[in-house]
Amino acid sequence: MYSTLVAAPPVIWKNNRIKRSHSIRYLGIYIDDKTNWNSHIRHLSNKATTLHQNLLKIAGPSLGISKKHRLVLYKTVIERVFAHGVSAWCLNPTSKMARKLDTIQRRFLLAISGAYGTTPTAALQVILGLPPLHLKLKSEAEQVTIFRLRKNIPNHNHAPEDFEETETGWSSHPSSHLHPEQISLQDGGNLMVTKAIYTDGSKLEKGVGAAFCLLENIITHSWSTKLRSENTVFQAELLALKEAVHFALPLASKTIKIFTDNKASILAVSNPKSPNKMARSVFNILLNHPNIHLNWIKAHVGYFGNETADALAKEAAESQSSPSIVKLSKAFLKSSLKKSMLNAWQKLWTKGDTGRSTHTIIPSVSLRPANWSREDIIFFTGHGPFQFYLRRFNLSTTSTCPCGLEGTPIHYATECLFTIYWHIKKPAPQHADQWLRNVAGNPSSKSRIRSIIQHIHHNQPLFRPD
Ligand SMILES: [Zn+2]
Repeated sequence: MYSTLVAAPPVIWKNNRIKRSHSIRYLGIYIDDKTNWNSHIRHLSNKATTLHQNLLKIAGPSLGISKKHRLVLYKTVIERVFAHGVSAWCLNPTSKMARKLDTIQRRFLLAISGAYGTTPTAALQVILGLPPLHLKLKSEAEQVTIFRLRKNIPNHNHAPEDFEETETGWSSHPSSHLHPEQISLQDGGNLMVTKAIYTDGSKLEKGVGAAFCLLENIITHSWSTKLRSENTVFQAELLALKEAVHFALPLASKTIKIFTDNKASILAVSNPKSPNKMARSVFNILLNHPNIHLNWIKAHVGYFGNETADALAKEAAESQSSPSIVKLSKAFLKSSLKKSMLNAWQKLWTKGDTGRSTHTIIPSVSLRPANWSREDIIFFTGHGPFQFYLRRFNLSTTSTCPCGLEGTPIHYATECLFTIYWHIKKPAPQHADQWLRNVAGNPSSKSRIRSIIQHIHHNQPLFRPD
């Protein structure tokens, strides 16, 4: 019973009161009576504890495996566990769910980065190139909902019907296959043929175009069309091939060659298990018409037929005509969902109130990790063995370095008596932000920073007044 009542009505069966359970587990997902997914997230949190311990066992206290591998483990194992059944529960995560998922993710961010335990989550996400967990899961839930479940999502630009469907299984009997001579991936530009078809697809800023032409000494026939700018160049290549094989049918009493400079589309149409519908329809035509041959050709080396098809496709891409409707691909959906995830993340990062020193250096979020070592993270976030930090978190009674000056990170890098060997020139106070950005972008400054942090770690008594 879904209910927000504090005390739900009793359920009696043959004079026995039935004990109420607050959640049920179905296919690995906990559904609770308040429909707020608390039980499921609690279950994830417990699971994360085990996963985290296992990760630490591999990473070791001295961080045995490299950060790169810790990141890979996180993305391929841990994130996958959280993503189970995500379309059921994380399509519209509430801010409460977002906070809980951040807490779960935080442990891993700390283990991957080796940062101090107080380092802000938002800063670690940006440094490691890992979006907040709730945004990542929401994005996956959206993809599954549109592409697999074929359901609408409010505020999304495209309806599920607008996306191509994935084909499964064999497109014909597994024993039937193309004649080996039908497909060639060798450059066919210098083959002596008197009559051949050339196809091409093109994606330009203004749009996407597909074209083919028939060459018999001169061009005797050509076809081209514009596609929507959301279509991919691969789709344009396939469409051109499909139109070309249809055109070749009446000519197929003798061998007829089709040349294309796109290997990926040749491989797709010669694959009887291709998930792509258009590729499958080409495969079936080729199967029934062994006289139609498909040959790769090197692009941009002046083969007349290829150059003509290329020009026709580009012209179609740039034309003002209304585009042919070809359903959009999964690749397009993925990239558009990724874009909106990055936008949402960027908003959180820009208006956030934690990790501001990191924000000064890395204002834009990205899925590529910043090239920061553990020491860099410690220095630039300010969460490290600095008197200023220790005072802030009540781990020391003073923020003053034993050398007599305020123990901020910049102090140790520029003026502290105990780190003179590695000093970098001190910035004027008003240029501190620019100084941080310069240091973060300069490998030799960064290696000095690394040495200073290691020096402080190894000589703690020297740097601790009390
Ligand atoms: Zn000092």
